[in-house]
Amino acid sequence: MTESIVHWINGARVEATSGKHQDVFNPATGKVTGQAQFASVADVNAAVASAKAAFPAWSNLPPLRRARVLFRFLDLLNQRRDELARLITAEHGKVFTDAQGEVMRGIEVVEFATGIPQLLKSDFTEQVSTNIDNWTVRQPLGVVAGITPFNFPVMVPMWMFPVAIACGNTFILKPSPTDPSASLFIAELLKEAGLPDGVFNVVQGDKVAVDALLEHPDVEALSFVGSTPIANYVYETGARHGKRVQALGGAKNHLVVMPDADMDQVVDALTGAAYGSAGERCMAISVALFVGEGTAEKVLPALIERTKQLKVLNGTNLDAEMGPIVTPAAKERISGYIAAGEAEGAKLLVDGRNFDATTTGEGCEQGFWLGGTLFDEVTTDMRIYREEIFGPVLACLRVKDFAEAVQLINDHEFGNGVSCYTRDGHIAREFGRRIKVGMVGINVPIPVPMAWHGFGGWKKSLFGDMHAYGEEGVRFYTRQKSIMERWPESTSKGAEFAMPTTK
Ligand code: NAD
Repeated sequence: MTESIVHWINGARVEATSGKHQDVFNPATGKVTGQAQFASVADVNAAVASAKAAFPAWSNLPPLRRARVLFRFLDLLNQRRDELARLITAEHGKVFTDAQGEVMRGIEVVEFATGIPQLLKSDFTEQVSTNIDNWTVRQPLGVVAGITPFNFPVMVPMWMFPVAIACGNTFILKPSPTDPSASLFIAELLKEAGLPDGVFNVVQGDKVAVDALLEHPDVEALSFVGSTPIANYVYETGARHGKRVQALGGAKNHLVVMPDADMDQVVDALTGAAYGSAGERCMAISVALFVGEGTAEKVLPALIERTKQLKVLNGTNLDAEMGPIVTPAAKERISGYIAAGEAEGAKLLVDGRNFDATTTGEGCEQGFWLGGTLFDEVTTDMRIYREEIFGPVLACLRVKDFAEAVQLINDHEFGNGVSCYTRDGHIAREFGRRIKVGMVGINVPIPVPMAWHGFGGWKKSLFGDMHAYGEEGVRFYTRQKSIMERWPESTSKGAEFAMPTTK
């Protein structure tokens, strides 16, 4: 028996009406474990209607009372977080400890959102003109939607809905059909926490559901996270329909190795950041950039060994360092890139396609396995350098100096994350100042900002101008209103026709 993964509308599970579905796999075993039902336009309309009906009462609640619901949700999440992590491993394949980390990073945004009374506190100026005060408030938008990718089925939705609902909006989540079960688990915990029905809804589905949300007149804003072509499409279509949109896209993240770096730390950093979560992270490092004569040679022998010895196992095994690839299609795409790299003349140091799947665990022979892949002598014109592979493939390039490294990264069309390993404070500071990338790590391989700092890339890694979560998230999910108020003595002074100025 496989599970049918349905919608969550107005506080209850609801069957889809399209008659279409997509199989959900356990990527480690290759077995089908469920079916994600797909929404019809009518299903999306029902979710929007439920969110719209819930908005007046929810947005009218004092922020502290909304925060109290989130505090209860936080308690429940902490009690059940390993169950949620197991669900991620079962449908995404990432190793359990990594899934636990994902849940924790999501929980941190909920913790941030519980501070909403403070975050919504506004500015006030007394006496901007004689007897007049002026202040600003931030008010919720209404019904907002989130469209999320497969690679973080818990964390990425939690970048969005805790902040959105804390601000007083009502929310519709359209998760990835690849690993949709976590969305229902979350919906049930929110209900148990006392969230009124209709404040949080889930529609399962594909482009039909996304388009219905993009075009629906009652949806005020959309947050999207996924690949760059779809992010671009969502941004443009949403904007054309008059909506506020933030759309986070793909990445190609470089790790710069300066000649003075601690090379043992570099090997650890590259191994974890390139192959962790099978490279299926938008902040994964996919390019190692060695600066100066002989730097690569200090790293590559150990890196080759480490790549060959990766513990690629069923993610339920606590010794696992890397799990399977998420789907057969993704495995095929990644294998295609490895072939393209070879054909374009890159030097294949370790070939993940040769990986022996029988070593991954009992019952896993039919899973979607690849080992880690390492390329050297990659050049900037190759597809494996220019395009996002989104798999466990690391490309090594060499440049003569720091200036060339900065230029090369700044010339790339993506600008999500970047890292620089050095012991030189001046280089570190210059790197932070000159690099055209949204999230920068100095001796930190995956610099995912904390919940109160906000997440977002530059260039084709983000469409829109506001980052996810943090104070930017609060701004995204609210609009500002300025109120100017006077309580005059009851004598009229006559109409004014000139632009008001301070008197
Ligand atoms: P994807 O773009 O295929 O899917 C993302 C969402 O869009 C899913 O909900 C999917 O159902 C929907 N979708 C797919 N095709 C669509 C279409 N034609 N029209 C409308 N909606 C459509 O991405 P994915 O494979 O699930 O996730 C991996 C991608 O996400 C990578 O490119 C990765 O870099 C990116 N990502 C980016 C960030 C970030 O913060 N920048 C974070 C995580 C993942």
